[in-house]
Amino acid sequence: MYPMPVCSVSYGDIFDCIQRGNIEQCIQFIQNDRSVLKQKGWGGFTPLHYAALHGNRALVDFFLSNGADPNVTCDAGQTAFHFACRQGNIYIIQQMMQYGADLRLIDRQKKTSLHHAVSGGNIVAVQYLWETGMFRFSDTAMYQVTPLHLAASTGNTEVVRYLLRDQRCSVNAVDQQGATPLHVAAERGGVEVSMVHFSLVLGLLCKVLTQDPGTLDRADADPRFTCIADLVENNESHHRFCPYCELFQPDYTKHCKLCDVCIKEYDHHCLFLNRCVGRGNHRLFLFFILSMLMAHLLFVATATSYLCDRMSAGSHSLSSWLTLLGKEFWVTAMIIMNALTLMWEVWLLAEQFDAIAKGTTTYFRQCERSAQPKSLGQCLVKVLSFLLEGRRWLGSGQTRVDKTAIDI
Ligand SMILES: [Zn+2]
Ligand SMILES: [Zn+2]
Repeated sequence: MYPMPVCSVSYGDIFDCIQRGNIEQCIQFIQNDRSVLKQKGWGGFTPLHYAALHGNRALVDFFLSNGADPNVTCDAGQTAFHFACRQGNIYIIQQMMQYGADLRLIDRQKKTSLHHAVSGGNIVAVQYLWETGMFRFSDTAMYQVTPLHLAASTGNTEVVRYLLRDQRCSVNAVDQQGATPLHVAAERGGVEVSMVHFSLVLGLLCKVLTQDPGTLDRADADPRFTCIADLVENNESHHRFCPYCELFQPDYTKHCKLCDVCIKEYDHHCLFLNRCVGRGNHRLFLFFILSMLMAHLLFVATATSYLCDRMSAGSHSLSSWLTLLGKEFWVTAMIIMNALTLMWEVWLLAEQFDAIAKGTTTYFRQCERSAQPKSLGQCLVKVLSFLLEGRRWLGSGQTRVDKTAIDI
């Protein structure tokens, strides 16, 4: 019978140990079998890659002194030295250089160690590599990408400043797509703005969906009436009494059959949100529509600019446009869909603002006898004060007798 191995572990376990920073166990693995250092795990990473990635100086030192090769490449053609440069620990970089790291090696994207250090964002590491005399800031990776392009794409302004100082990198260098580092930074800025905007739209949507639209309860019921006889005596419309909630409705209140509640300052029941819009969420609803409008506008503008960029310079004939639109079918379709939605949102907001300016809601506007004509300035003041302060000038509400529109 064969003796059991001292440490019957798989190679995956050493990677787990490195990630957990368990140095003692890593040492035990190597002492049992040094060939572990040559093994590759996920993505073709060796234990030295992992140690460099985590910036674990003690482990890197231990692996190197036990024969780990800093020039072995992973699937992406990157060495552990590339990882160390990106991680930015100058002591690890120095250790690897002492153990024969080849500074001339480039990865599959033709990125040098300097490119990796710039992507990592540690200026000291970048400067350290430059001091070796093996790198130039004008070195380009695949697609003519310079270190300044990389720094701009990560949004690290300190590295960008460092690369621009003393004209280390040219701000006018263009990559294969004709983009300067400024274009790259603008693109990144655009992505960030879009992400912030998307979060805002999502946040507003959640708030609109969860906020009470203005449900009428017993405490809010019209205090002038306590029984039907009060309505008769005051010559008021029988519509004042909601037969479902059994409450006397104040002005601008309506029962929504879909929500089965009375809503104060009822505007409409939004079928898209499946929610009523009333006093409690009307302002929020308008902000939501405004943010949606901005999102659609942003999409149409950037997608159109993308199509214009794709159009080769000089040829603006109808046939070349049609060929491009056919080639970019989905982008064209999305532009049309977004533009249509945009038009609908503009119409919706125009209706909303008109009702607010007239001192009513879109539902009760159709029941009003006649709205007082107002100047554009007065309308603007009313809309802005509603949006910014939540103030609303509602009319007298004496329109219920004429109300004919009974919908949902
Ligand atoms: Zn009701
Ligand atoms: Zn409703």
